[in-house]
Amino acid sequence: MTTYQDDQPVGYTVKLAPASSEAFPLAAGQTLSVILDDGPQVLDMLVFGTERHGERFSASHTRMRHGTRLTTGHQLISNSPHERALLTITLDTLHERDYDSDRSLHGHDILYPPCSRPYRSRRYGLDSNGCFENLTAAIVAYGFSERDVHDPFNLFMRTGIDAHGALGFAPSAAVTGDRITFLAEEPCLVAVSTCPSASSGDPRSVSVHTGLQTPPKGSTS
Ligand SMILES: [Zn+2]
Repeated sequence: MTTYQDDQPVGYTVKLAPASSEAFPLAAGQTLSVILDDGPQVLDMLVFGTERHGERFSASHTRMRHGTRLTTGHQLISNSPHERALLTITLDTLHERDYDSDRSLHGHDILYPPCSRPYRSRRYGLDSNGCFENLTAAIVAYGFSERDVHDPFNLFMRTGIDAHGALGFAPSAAVTGDRITFLAEEPCLVAVSTCPSASSGDPRSVSVHTGLQTPPKGSTS
């Protein structure tokens, strides 16, 4: 992992290596952008509301609110009894290109769990960590454990449900330069892992940038 200041007035960029993970504390009003600078790469993402004990992203509450094709303007909703927006998607360059109402597959996933060591052993015969273990490693420094790893939002993972109700995934439609940006609505801890499993193809590195929301043009504040 290489961390460096970039040319933004506030914020920093982390270059995530293939099959690695990192956690990012965000204050309300901060942004987090995930930028593909080396081709398609799936990232599993966790979100914890750090202001309230036990608050975390809920895939089911978010699906109930927005369906399974999340994009710009949609919000990542937390578990009961909180049920608050933790993050808002403010930019998604993949959605328009990958949206086709006649197809069952689509650009970001809210159906699948993180891949894990048992899954990779079962499916690929490999004895190596998956996103579950890598995400656990990213959150322990913040007082969380593997018991806190929840169903993720899987960025750039192309999934869907077929006419028989079965889940499936296909190679990501993302390309170099695609990005998705989130605005923190509440104080959050966001953890992301560059998935080492087959939904990504060859493992790639990814840039994650945190910053502040750009003020509207003409703003004097
Ligand atoms: Zn994975």
